[in-house]
Amino acid sequence: MTVVELVIASGKGGVGKSTISGSLAVLLAKKGLKLVAADADAEEPNLHIVLGIDRWDRVEEYYEGRIAYILQDKCTKCNICAEECPFGAVEVIDGNYKINEYICEGCLTCSLACPVKAIRYKFKVVAGHIMLAEKTRYGFPLISGESVPGRPNSGKLVTEIKNRAKALLGTEGVLLLDAAAGIGCQVISSLTGAQFALLVVEPTRASLSDLKRIHKLTKHFMIAPMIVINKFDINPEMVNDIEEYAKEENIPIIGKIPFDESVPKSINMRRPVVEAFPDSSASQELRRIADFVAEKVLSDWRSWYSRYRPKKPEPYIPVIVRPQKG
Ligand code: SF4
Ligand code: SF4
Repeated sequence: MTVVELVIASGKGGVGKSTISGSLAVLLAKKGLKLVAADADAEEPNLHIVLGIDRWDRVEEYYEGRIAYILQDKCTKCNICAEECPFGAVEVIDGNYKINEYICEGCLTCSLACPVKAIRYKFKVVAGHIMLAEKTRYGFPLISGESVPGRPNSGKLVTEIKNRAKALLGTEGVLLLDAAAGIGCQVISSLTGAQFALLVVEPTRASLSDLKRIHKLTKHFMIAPMIVINKFDINPEMVNDIEEYAKEENIPIIGKIPFDESVPKSINMRRPVVEAFPDSSASQELRRIADFVAEKVLSDWRSWYSRYRPKKPEPYIPVIVRPQKG
């Protein structure tokens, strides 16, 4: 086995992704698989909470990019930088031109445009932190990250988290990534290079529409998807719609987790549900899913991959949201 990347993803938050990631990591590690878990949601990391980690073995600063600033004694207040900045990062405060460092992307446009060369850059900006628990109480390492609020490019931090996790694994093992919700740059970083994505969906119209969006993204990256329906019993009619979509798109549904009060209780206890309430109905289904992943997907991952990977990549059109000027 080489390093196999399994990304747990969902089109939107709040569908139980981290709960499923934590329990799957515990169950797969118990089977003797060499595994590293990574929290790839650098804006709202919470896998460490699910796994009950309250002390990190290592915390490192993560540096990245550059931020522009204006030399006030050189600035002639011509307003060109404010007009040219594509991100609206130049502000006028008390008559002086200033750059909002939480918005600046370090793109160089303003310094190239400034007629008097009044703009300089700070480098090695602290953009976040990378945290490592060398051995969780469940035996495998967890690597996580947290971006500094307001700093852009958390996708790059996720890539760094992934690289560190792969370095921990070495030449073989399973990298289980709990991705951020949605289809933004952090999720793109999580999916890049992965073989498998476990897509978590709830039986609601909105969740099915989110599933379609994230599935489209996995198709772009030529990833073999699989679906887990969480709280499947709250809306059986929508389960039919999800099943229909899965059938049309050749996506295996590998589990249906029932609504279970044990899940929120286990989160409050900061323990994976499969450890806190092993006999609960959710835990029973999670064990079945873990068995399936270990025996059907990972044991001969190349044949599973060739069976379920997309036939051709889906074109990807990014949506860029920029702050309004003025
Ligand atoms: S133009 Fe680019 S470098 Fe200059 S302030 Fe705007 S974002 Fe920052
Ligand atoms: S372009 Fe240069 S001189 Fe003009 S306002 Fe900006 S920093 Fe000042």
